[in-house]
Amino acid sequence: MVKSGCCVELGFKKSFLQCAPRLLLFSGLALSACGTSPQTSETKYAHYESMQLLGSPIARLEAMKMGYEVDFSSLDVCVENGRSDLTDQEALAEVKLVYAMWLKESGSYDENAWRKLSFANKSKCNPEDNSNSAVVIFSDGTSGGQDISKFNEPKISCERRNGSVSCKGTSLIMGFGGPGWITPYYYSPEKWIRLAKKAPSTTVFSPYVQWTSLKKDVMRSEDISDSVKNKVTREYDSLVADQSPAKLFAFAKLLEDQKILIGKDAGFQTAFQRFFDGTADEEETSFTPNVGVFHVLLHEVGHQFGMGHADNPQPDDVTGYAAGNEASASRNANGQWVTDKASMAYALTYTYLTADDKAGIKSVGKTIRDQLTNKK
Ligand SMILES: [Zn+2]
Repeated sequence: MVKSGCCVELGFKKSFLQCAPRLLLFSGLALSACGTSPQTSETKYAHYESMQLLGSPIARLEAMKMGYEVDFSSLDVCVENGRSDLTDQEALAEVKLVYAMWLKESGSYDENAWRKLSFANKSKCNPEDNSNSAVVIFSDGTSGGQDISKFNEPKISCERRNGSVSCKGTSLIMGFGGPGWITPYYYSPEKWIRLAKKAPSTTVFSPYVQWTSLKKDVMRSEDISDSVKNKVTREYDSLVADQSPAKLFAFAKLLEDQKILIGKDAGFQTAFQRFFDGTADEEETSFTPNVGVFHVLLHEVGHQFGMGHADNPQPDDVTGYAAGNEASASRNANGQWVTDKASMAYALTYTYLTADDKAGIKSVGKTIRDQLTNKK
């Protein structure tokens, strides 16, 4: 009954015309969610069906709030800060931020609910350890009960031909995530008498990536003005020092107001430049992507909360539109129905929740609350 994890794939290429009269830089970054295929439905958001949503942190919080008999009294989120250059405090702040963002838009946020959540750095977080409600793992590749077999080591292949250099990278699974599971107990299935924890919600990030902080990702962006960079980095430092709900929501608003999209792979750029500066005509090597983790974290924790891929819903997913956006649905060149913009589609690099994301998580929250109310 545990929904299996999802992932984000990254494919990329870059070429440089070396001897043209005017140097021309072409850089194409193509991102796609895993398993992307043409859809026939007009989807703007997708989320898991009601029983699978019992694994969402929202279900645990609502079950406690509604007075169900449960075998947990808090939601303990274990954060393993393995292969990243984030400090432990930065990792906690970024994880808390995405939890606060999804929870608030679900309609299940209040101060009491937030106090039930606790976030702690640990040297290992085991997804099979039921004392955790959720785990967020920047994996260093050493297993602690983590399934890291689905990650691949990325390769870059480059060639130099007719004065032109081009490189392309293999697709990369960046992370996966999914809700956990709590089991209802009953004499008749219409009314539940007890809910018991079964599996924590899980997010694991690829050990083949050097993950970097939101602050560093903003600082190295070429698309963000210096004044916005200064404001974001100042507020980021302030948030890391004081991770209160007020600070979390103020920072989330800043990201949304500034419409910040980031997630550049500096590792690919470095590998490209090394080949470009060399003399080899052809080369294929492994390389370490260096990617800002925040947009991936937002996406994968979306899966923890019960969100599916808007561009590639599963057959039993609940799908729908953001209110008022029906008219803007359109197909792209591959025949896929395109959401205007969504963190949960195409592995786009949003640092904030779009209208489609918000509509989806609002529907998740309502579905969970309706079900728990009906079964009480
Ligand atoms: Zn995904």
